[in-house]
Formats: sequence, C-alpha cells, structure tokens
Amino acid sequence: MKSIAVLGSTGSIGTQTLEVVRGQRDLKVAALAAGSNVSLLEAQAREFRPALVAVWDEARARELQIALGDTQTRAVSGMGGLCEAAQLSGVETVVTAIVGMIGIRPTLSAIEAGKDIALANKETLVTAGHLVMGKAREKGVRILPVDSEHSAIFQCLQGQEYAGRGVAGGDGHSMQDGCGRDICSELAHAGSGCADAKAKQQGGSAPLTRIILTASGGPFRGRKREGLRDVTVADALKHPNWSMGRKITVDSATMVNKGLEVMEARWLFGVDFDRIQVVVHPQSVIHSMVEFADGAVLAQLGAPDMKLPIQYALTYPGRRPMAGERLDFAGIGSLTFEEPDMGTFGGLALAYEAGRMGGTMPTVYNAANEWAVAGFLRGELPFLGIEETIRAAMCAHRAAANPDLDAILNAERETYEFLVASHSPTGR
Ligand code: NAD
Ligand code: MG
Repeated sequence: MKSIAVLGSTGSIGTQTLEVVRGQRDLKVAALAAGSNVSLLEAQAREFRPALVAVWDEARARELQIALGDTQTRAVSGMGGLCEAAQLSGVETVVTAIVGMIGIRPTLSAIEAGKDIALANKETLVTAGHLVMGKAREKGVRILPVDSEHSAIFQCLQGQEYAGRGVAGGDGHSMQDGCGRDICSELAHAGSGCADAKAKQQGGSAPLTRIILTASGGPFRGRKREGLRDVTVADALKHPNWSMGRKITVDSATMVNKGLEVMEARWLFGVDFDRIQVVVHPQSVIHSMVEFADGAVLAQLGAPDMKLPIQYALTYPGRRPMAGERLDFAGIGSLTFEEPDMGTFGGLALAYEAGRMGGTMPTVYNAANEWAVAGFLRGELPFLGIEETIRAAMCAHRAAANPDLDAILNAERETYEFLVASHSPTGR
C-alpha cells in the first residue's frame, strides 16, 4: 500500500489524482490540502479518510474540523498546515497540485522529509528549480513529472542515461547562476552569451540531444496581435483540447504555459535551453518527444487525459491498466506541426530570456505572470497586458545569481510591489 498526500486536492489535477486513486487498490490518501473549497474538501475527507486535511484559511479550517468531528481526520491551516501535510509520517509520495509559487515551501518540506514528489506545480520548479533538484539529489528522492509534456519525455527516456537522470538521480551539475546583466538591452536580442557558456557546461557525452516540447497553440493559434487586443476572459478560457484550472488555461492562451514548461524541462532533464525546442502541434496527440545523438526521435502519444501522467507518476516504474479513450489513428487522419509564433505570443520568447538569464529572473517572469493573469481574470487587465506586464517587470529587475529561498521570495515580493506601484494612478 502506497500512502500519498495531495496538495491542491480540490483543483483540476487534485480531483483527477483522486480519480486515479479510486482505480488503484494499493494507493491510500493520508493527507489532503486545498485553498478554500471546504465543502469539496469535506466530501473528499469523508470518502478517503485521511489523517490530516489542510485549509489555507484558519477560520475555514476550524469550520472543517467541526464538520469532521465524527471522523479521525485532523484539520490544520496556513503554510504550517500545508507543510505538515507535505511531511506527514508514513506518506511516500506527495502530489504537488497547488497552483502558483505558494507551492515552493511545501515542496521543499516534503523533499526534506524524504518524500518522492509527483510534481504538477510547475511554478515551483521554474522559480526554485536549483533548490528543488539540489535537495532532491541530497535526499535521494524522486521528482516524478505530472505535467503531460514532461511525463512524455520521462517515459521516452526510460532505460536511457541523460544529464538530469535522478528525476531520477542527476549528475550534480547545476547552472542556476544568472548572468546578473542588465536585461533591458538583452531582452531585445534573442540569445545571450550566457546560454553559450552554460551549453559548454552541459558536457557532450549524454545521448539526449534535443527535447521537443509540443504545444497545442491554445485557443488563439493563428491570430496576430491585432486579433488578441479585445479577447475576453471567456475566450481565453476556451482551451481546444484540455480541461484545466483557470490560471493554466490562460497561460496556455498566452503560451506562457509553454515558456514555464521550457524552464521546467531544463531543471527536470538537465538540458540546456538551446536544446529545448517548442513545436506547435494542434491535435495534442504527441505529448512531447526526445531526440538522441544518433538522430532517433522517440515520442509518447495518447488521448489528452491528465490521468495517465498522474497515474504513471504514482505507479512508476510500473504501468497499470487505465480505462479511457484510445487513439484512433485512421480517425485522426493527420498530425501537423508548426513553428510557434513568438512575435505574437511574446510570453514564450520572454521565458527563454528569463531562463537563460537565470538566478531570480525566472521568479520575476513567473510572479509578474501570476499577478497579471489574476488581473486579467478579474477583468482589470487586457489580454496583451499580461505579456506587457511580464516584460516591464523583467526590464525593471536586476537578476541576482544563485538565489536562496529568501532571495526568491523577496524577488517575488519586489515584483508585486513594482507592479502595484506602476499600475496605480500615481505610478509611472
Ligand atoms: P486549479 O486552480 O484547478 O487547482 C489549484 C488547487 O490549488 C486547488 O485545489 C486550490 O484549492 C489549491 N490552492 C490554491 N491556493 C492554495 C493555498 N493557498 N493553499 C492550499 N491550496 C491552495 O489548478 P490546476 O489546473 O489543478 O493546476 C495545479 C498545478 O498543476 C498548476 O501549477 C498547473 O500549472 C499544474 N498543471 C496543471 C495541469 C492541468 O491539466 N490542470 C497540467 C499540467 C500542470
Ligand atoms: Mg503541460
């Protein structure tokens, strides 16, 4: 029996994780955590009987504790509660399905306590990848990707040696140091010397030569910037292939999601940015590919269903039966591929810049995006304002190399302060 904790259990990934658990007799839920949906959390607690539930808000946690008075489940709150759920004794794997940078501390706590991580929360790896991967190596825990693209790559790499193995393992190499240059001038030019220096550190022996991340292109694929000026929240939330939480759905529409995934791949697989390529593949049948030194390309294909990567992360290295749609190739007819339009979807180009700069810059990229997406969802910022916000925050920031957790959280706070000031009526 494998015991798991699900952080973010009421969300899209969280509820699908619990569906996977329902289908596997040897998975048991020991802890659940969520932000505010207390009624769903109560229903989940009654069904799965965890020892612990964590709710962000203290008053709601008290409310939940009263509601669960007839059970053995204990309710806790705040960051302390989240970390307690992440470190609960007896738990083997923690599913990190919280949205946003708030996932960093609980993820690090779980690794500290020796738990394997089934990682959905990409913002954690984007902003603190060097800390997460370093601590995972130190503690000998596995970081098992849940994001469909990274799971695809992980599946394609089974039986192979590669730099980031120790996702697996790892080779101890890290390249988190930002170049610390003024990014304003560099943002205009693709590729900095920084990337070349890092590519040399990469070493030439790994047989993995390229990661090809597929992207659906989102609901606005094919549009130019003029066609993005007046898009509404409802338009942005209509993803063609996947049903996901609101934030990641907007990220898919801006292609910032793919940018975050490029940075996520860099940490998970130890591959330099020059070797991570994005290709638009509107059918979302190929979930990503890897290329080896001999030119062979391996791909993982499947119906767009997050339960597969979730289940693989929970049962790895085993594969278990799973009900669901199967691919009908004759019905699909053709699979197509396009270059991403980085001129229109500038958030993807900015992600490569932030990733290459490294240090605190990915945190600024991510924090500005979280801030702007929340504003867009409230109807306070236009769609193109998301990319503009990220660019402005990155331009205003001087990247600090090799940040510790405090420096990362400071960079996040300073980004918010900068954005609040620059968007206030008296701001710049
Ligand atoms: P969601 O919005 O549907 O769910 C987010 C969950 O986080 C909810 O359970 C919410 O209660 C919880 N949460 C938010 N703030 C919290 C807090 N302060 N304390 C405790 N819990 C809190 O999001 P989602 O689509 O499930 O995405 C979750 C993560 O997985 C994101 O990082 C996303 O990028 C990543 N991801 C999602 C998908 C997908 O298909 N949905 C695919 C790949 C990666
Ligand atoms: Mg993905």
